Amino acid sequence: MNTYGRLPVTFTHGEGIYLYADDGRRYFDAIAGIGVNSLGHAHPAVTRAITEQAGKLIHTSNLYHIELQQQLAEKLTRAAGMETCFFGNSGAEANEAAIKLARLYGHQKGVKKPAVIVMENSFHGRTMATLSATGNRKIQAGFEPLVQGFVRAPYDNIEALTNIAENNADVVAILVEPIQGEGGVRVPADGYLSELRQLCDARGWLLMLDEVQSGNCRSGHWFACQGEDVTPDVLTTAKALANGVPIGACLASGPAASVLAPGNHGSTYGGNPLACAAALAVMETMASEQLAQRAGTLGSQIREQFAQQLADVDLVIDIRGRGLMLGIELSVPCPELVSMALNSGYLINVTAGSTVRLLPPLIMSDAQAAELVTAISGLIREFAAQHVTAAAS
Ligand SMILES: *Cc1c(COP(=O)(O)O)cnc(C)c1O
Repeated sequence: MNTYGRLPVTFTHGEGIYLYADDGRRYFDAIAGIGVNSLGHAHPAVTRAITEQAGKLIHTSNLYHIELQQQLAEKLTRAAGMETCFFGNSGAEANEAAIKLARLYGHQKGVKKPAVIVMENSFHGRTMATLSATGNRKIQAGFEPLVQGFVRAPYDNIEALTNIAENNADVVAILVEPIQGEGGVRVPADGYLSELRQLCDARGWLLMLDEVQSGNCRSGHWFACQGEDVTPDVLTTAKALANGVPIGACLASGPAASVLAPGNHGSTYGGNPLACAAALAVMETMASEQLAQRAGTLGSQIREQFAQQLADVDLVIDIRGRGLMLGIELSVPCPELVSMALNSGYLINVTAGSTVRLLPPLIMSDAQAAELVTAISGLIREFAAQHVTAAAS
């Protein structure tokens, strides 16, 4: 079906940070499959894990014990400081599990119509429940009736939440991205997550963090909430977890850890041996190469370099991010930058209309990072110059 507006390029293979097109051209992949290929393309550890596992066992279903799923659950819950874990096959499925968990938690407390607070400008997926939770009318339009039981609040605004708390007894949870990704790489004020934690503790609400994009070392920590020393009740992740093999996970701790019981939720493929073998290889590589720290230092370096190189470009209004989740906001819509970059051999993304988003592989070298900053800064200058000329004529 015609569900995607695609760029005019087809890739045949990749290696490290590069993708190669069928016309032989090489591209610097600075979006990494939308934050998925954090170890770059064709990483040998992942390739080995997948090929070896495919020769043994791809799938058995969750009717039986799965040793690799157990191992991955242990590794992942330890990395996140959580207790239990459910596996699906995507970010949306991880969030579906979280939303179902919150509702069941509410019913167990005697709340007949449990509601989940969700944020303006958020993104949680494209299934009916997750698009209803998403704070973007474009994603919802045409798909009404939406799933009920969500209360919308402004992002990075604690006061609005205290107001809701006073007036709505049905709320049982907050679902929020620690850094909004699709919404324009929005980093909330320092202390926001701790204040959310306090509010949830005071009200008996579950704090549910969507780390589908910010998780798996991209933000400079294994999970972005660890940068703020906050442990949620529920944490969802996906994207980079298996470097491109579909997998999603919903982690829980405290009272949330034991809400779902046999019969409450499931997934045929979820946590299959192949995806788990890939994810284990990813986690081992990220740990041994200390990629969380690497993302943190490289990200700060890149933001500084962009700030220097774009200091005199009036159109640039903000350079922000955490680790290698980077956003450069312009004062005008700039979707053209994507094809300008493509023509120059760089794969980037523009989100929320006017924010250039970079989610490069975490394995990038210093030299490659410097090259990326110079190239993208040059393109933004070129775009700004054209914009000024167009405005004047
Ligand atoms: C990408 C994303 C999702 C959806 O993940 P899918 O794997 O596309 O279903 C959910 N939440 C956030 C924050 C995302 O970035």
